[in-house]
Amino acid sequence: MRVSLKTVVLIIAAGRGTRAGATTPKQYAMVGGVPVLAQTVGAFIGSPDVDLVTVVIGEDDRALYDGAVASNHRKLMPPATGGDTRQRSVLNGLRAVMKYAPDRVLIHDGVRPFVTADIIERVWKALDQAPGAIAAIPLADTLKRADADRRVGETVGRSGLWRAQTPQGFRFAGILAAHEAADAAGRNDLTDDAAVAEWAGLAVTLVDGSETNRKLTTAEDLAMVQPPETGLAPEVGLADVRTGQGFDVHRLATGDHVWLCGIRIAHSHGLEGHSDADVGLHALTDALLGAIGDGDIGQHFPNTDARWKGAASHVFLADALRRVRARDGRITNVDVTLLCEAPKISPHRDAMRQRIAEVLEIEVSRVAVKATTTEGLGFTGRREGIAALATATVVLR
Ligand code: MG
Repeated sequence: MRVSLKTVVLIIAAGRGTRAGATTPKQYAMVGGVPVLAQTVGAFIGSPDVDLVTVVIGEDDRALYDGAVASNHRKLMPPATGGDTRQRSVLNGLRAVMKYAPDRVLIHDGVRPFVTADIIERVWKALDQAPGAIAAIPLADTLKRADADRRVGETVGRSGLWRAQTPQGFRFAGILAAHEAADAAGRNDLTDDAAVAEWAGLAVTLVDGSETNRKLTTAEDLAMVQPPETGLAPEVGLADVRTGQGFDVHRLATGDHVWLCGIRIAHSHGLEGHSDADVGLHALTDALLGAIGDGDIGQHFPNTDARWKGAASHVFLADALRRVRARDGRITNVDVTLLCEAPKISPHRDAMRQRIAEVLEIEVSRVAVKATTTEGLGFTGRREGIAALATATVVLR
């Protein structure tokens, strides 16, 4: 069972960010239409390991902060004011959250918005075993030590070398004492909290960080993480989600079976049409074409073309899939509703879903087939024909 430990997060966002080459500090820059700091705060508020979040901001940045971070979440406490160094900002933050009597604190850079729940959990869990734990990644590049003229003096072995990221987690009392002692000793040159812990003799353990948990330090960093221009509102600009609908009707005539959603069903009548008259697959094909704005089934497969006489309709559906893929799209779900008094659809529903999933090369869980009568009303109620409705969702990359 999980022990109840109060965990506070300090997000350090007091830097002026002059390295990003902008007048606005980089934690307030927009990525995908959302302020960097808002994304960072959101990552921690969303973590089940986190009880409270406090952001440490620059003295003059209150208006920027209020504009960037929605402040009504129950986990988000009022911001604390930073100092003239990162180390001093953390100390101010630790002092400010003392009143919440935390057991653990996670300290994180405001300009690392891509931290994940997994990384947060790994740091948090490691504190069961150690007074300090930080996210880090092993060094992949070869290190060179060079002189002032950029002449390589030596190659430094990288074995055992890691790049420290944040969050850096600590048992609260230990890191507060370490920061107070470093401050009292005039040590203000320690570049991260693990260095403060190390200076104070606290053991710090490493857990896996991630390359994506990058620090946005320069204008180039910011440019690299901007999502592609979609022309959409920024709220939905991160994923280009398309929805399409389709509708089809075929007349019932003499016959002994119908094709519905790719399944042959014995019936007192047949469906009339140029192809196999599978209304379900026709509606679904149109829904997919609708999602990518690529005409309709009648345009691509005219019923005046002898090639499609008696065609099995999965051919049309597979063509729609090809068109979706040509636009670098991915089908996330499809949903078909059949309107008929008979035959009964429910005994065939799973087979229909399976068949559609096979043709579209997606999991069955992404395919829905439903059916309804129209209570004896209208042409479907009079058993003159069968109708089908479909929707499809496609995400374009
Ligand atoms: Mg049709």
